[in-house]
Amino acid sequence: MVELTRLTLDEVHHLALRALQANGVSEDHATAIADTVTAAERDDCKSHGLFRIPGYILSVRSGKVTPDAVPEVRELAPAVVQVDGKNGFAPLALRVGRAPLAEKARQQGIAALAVTNAYHFAALWPEVEALGEMGLVGFACVSTMSYVAPAGGVKPLYGTNPMAFAWPRADRPPLVFDQASSASARGEIMLHERDGHAIPEGWGIDAQGQPTTDPAAALAGAQLPFGGYKGAAIALMIELLAGALIGDVFSFEATEIDTQDGGPSIGGEWMIAIDPARCIGSGDRQAQLAYAETLFAKILQQDGARLPSDRRYAARLRTPTEGITIPQTLYDELHALGNG
Ligand code: NDP
Repeated sequence: MVELTRLTLDEVHHLALRALQANGVSEDHATAIADTVTAAERDDCKSHGLFRIPGYILSVRSGKVTPDAVPEVRELAPAVVQVDGKNGFAPLALRVGRAPLAEKARQQGIAALAVTNAYHFAALWPEVEALGEMGLVGFACVSTMSYVAPAGGVKPLYGTNPMAFAWPRADRPPLVFDQASSASARGEIMLHERDGHAIPEGWGIDAQGQPTTDPAAALAGAQLPFGGYKGAAIALMIELLAGALIGDVFSFEATEIDTQDGGPSIGGEWMIAIDPARCIGSGDRQAQLAYAETLFAKILQQDGARLPSDRRYAARLRTPTEGITIPQTLYDELHALGNG
């Protein structure tokens, strides 16, 4: 039985911020990371919550990441913005790129953001949800390190390469999905390992290419794409969009240059923002959003069906008053990291 400790969301943020800053992460980066990690805990996305903070710090201690990098924004084309993360962490680079991306989407109807030279460790939903909150349709994808075997293969090649999508809704938070192209996020397997649980069948194979439910064996072997060759094709697309398209590395290259410090990997992220009202002749945004609601209502009429993101939004209603729990050992580790 894992001993748990309960924290308020303010305590989560403070714990993260303090640990990062005590280890040389600049205030801007530490704030962007603490905001992202707190949002993950608030929405019950444990695999991207406080559990990630030691990894961010390990990557600073190894000298891999520049902890005070100042991201640089450039316009590459009328509808394409680039943010060079300057070897820093991605949450700040994404924050810096959000307003220019949204502005270009409103001007042009559709726009893209290429984030390069940045270290990723977070879920993608915060950035597409932010676009949805601005009334835009959002898409994001990122490559990682070689963890996933291509369909038919047994050796890691693709990253777990997630993609996320947001659709704006009137008077309520956007509809969002955010999913790895592997059968599970790697962080989920690490949490199973930490807590001594077996992983479901279909998540991974061992180093000999045999199916396994042992998390340590799957981490040492290869993860599997979701849906066989279909998930593998999504992972392949993301390698191209977040790598070759924007002049950044493939997951296998990120693996080759990584210091294996347990922290985030370098790579690219590709985002698209669309102003929905610019995609219909009438420009009647209210009617367009209302039309989408008829589909959502049809989904919810079916017993057992729900909308992606509804689980997160339900958690978001609970955690500001109930707080969240983390293992006592993680709390002790973060507390010690906060003392430098
Ligand atoms: P999940 O399989 O847990 O969920 C994927 C999506 O499906 C979520 O949007 C979820 O919504 C939705 N969903 C789940 N169950 C249902 C259901 N019954 N009906 C409708 N929708 C449902 O996510 P993954 O394990 O694939 O990925 C977890 C996270 O890991 C993602 O946030 C991803 O960005 C992140 N990741 C980050 C990487 C990085 O390097 N930065 C690499 C790989 C993954 P809900 O949240 O409401 O449950």
